[in-house]
Amino acid sequence: MDYDVYEATQDASVGDMWVFCESRDGQLRDVSLEMLGKARRMMDDYNEEYDADENVVALVLGQDARGLAGECVQHGADVVYVAEDEQLVPFRLLPYTTVVANAALMRDEYKDYDKPRYFLFPATHNGRDLSATVAGKLDTGLASDCDDLYIEDAEIKHPFKTEGEETVFERTLHMVRPDFSGFEHSTILCLDNPHRDFHPQSASVIPGSFPVPEPDRDRLQEGRILQLPVKFREGDLDVTVTEREHLDDGVDLTDDERVVAVGRGIGEDPTEGLELGLELSDALGSGFGLSRGVITASYNVDGNVESYVAEERQIGETGQIVEPDVYIAAGISGAVQHKTGMDESEFICSINTDPEAPIKDFSNVYIHGDLFEVVPRLIDEIERIREGDE
Ligand SMILES: Cc1cc2nc3c(=O)[nH]c(=O)nc-3n(C[C@H](O)[C@H](O)[C@H](O)COP(=O)(O)OP(=O)(O)OC[C@H]3O[C@@H](n4cnc5c(N)ncnc54)[C@H](O)[C@@H]3O)c2cc1C
Repeated sequence: MDYDVYEATQDASVGDMWVFCESRDGQLRDVSLEMLGKARRMMDDYNEEYDADENVVALVLGQDARGLAGECVQHGADVVYVAEDEQLVPFRLLPYTTVVANAALMRDEYKDYDKPRYFLFPATHNGRDLSATVAGKLDTGLASDCDDLYIEDAEIKHPFKTEGEETVFERTLHMVRPDFSGFEHSTILCLDNPHRDFHPQSASVIPGSFPVPEPDRDRLQEGRILQLPVKFREGDLDVTVTEREHLDDGVDLTDDERVVAVGRGIGEDPTEGLELGLELSDALGSGFGLSRGVITASYNVDGNVESYVAEERQIGETGQIVEPDVYIAAGISGAVQHKTGMDESEFICSINTDPEAPIKDFSNVYIHGDLFEVVPRLIDEIERIREGDE
């Protein structure tokens, strides 16, 4: 079956949990391993619960994809499909969409079902794009940016989907995603209609949501590695990447040993809040970052600090991922999307007026207080220590 002629089906045969494993510079990204570990745990439970024998299937694309297959197996995959072609490096959305969508619909020596039952993608820049285009091609739904997943039967009564009858949808992937604040969660279900099938049930997964599992070398004996046919559609290769550069300008906080970041706690006086954050950052010799809350708040700030309110300073899932020795978060609540970008820091100090703020749970030191009072005292203390050293 090719997705050019694919139409939503009724009673399609489905199987397995597929995981799109993204790589960069010849290495699997951590989120790929995190998803494989989570998929392994879910499918082990699934096979036991439903007395089934379905697998975790990894998909790796790129010029050196085969070299990464063993790592996928060690981290939880039973089967790894690799697609190797020079056109697949670097990532381009259209060729990747074609290869992944065709893989999901083909049949071969291993795959004897119409479509994957479940499909996971990383919620990275590329993974987000790809998950949407592949779900579109497969005519199914997608829950984006999930931070938890589980499989369970769902009992639903709905005027259209179940024609008003209490109905059990077996083996349903429950896809849990944070809302825009990062604290409330919704659970998304992708359920079949009366005469229309919605598979694979697909989700993109926020990096850092699950731990990277320990690699298990014993699994290598069992893992199966299969080659995917690579065939592109007309127009897929029209965009040519002639040059790639890591931008030198812009702010790079990823190598900083210390980072000070401020959040919406500066709201009472954003100019002063930013000035204080910058002063603390100066005193510590650190990089200076922001939560997304500051960027979206549209604060009116004075000209001297205006240029600092920029997306290039955003830390978190959709900003930079930092791992400094010391991270100071002033007036940041600790939403999951911010946490993803900084919780690997060696030492985290948070300053917050709310003792219930979630950031407290992953801070080494929590200072309960108003940043407008606490930060000046920290600066004084650092300067006092410094003067004592001279
Ligand atoms: C798809 C998606 C991607 C996202 N990506 C990111 C991302 O990459 N990075 C990111 O940061 N967010 C991201 N977000 C937004 C995220 O969900 C939160 O909304 C955001 O992190 C909140 O920013 P904040 O902590 O500054 O603000 P708030 O959540 O409003 O928290 C402000 C905190 O300051 C405290 N406070 C108030 N006054 C003071 C004071 N005077 N002194 C000390 N503390 C004070 C409050 O108690 C509160 O805890 C994303 C959201 C979505 C939906």
